[in-house]
Amino acid sequence: MEFRPDHCPCEEPKCAGSAGFQYQRRGHYTRACDGRRVQRFQCKACKRTFST
Ligand SMILES: [Zn+2]
Repeated sequence: MEFRPDHCPCEEPKCAGSAGFQYQRRGHYTRACDGRRVQRFQCKACKRTFST
């Protein structure tokens, strides 16, 4: 299953790029709470990172 967000998860403040949302992959990281490898993404508009 592929993770494909259709909008930026950034809400506060509202992301300027939310209309034409674009993001890029930023590698993986291992989540501390359960040790699972998850994909990390970065919003091209606000540069904030998020994950699955
Ligand atoms: Zn954003």
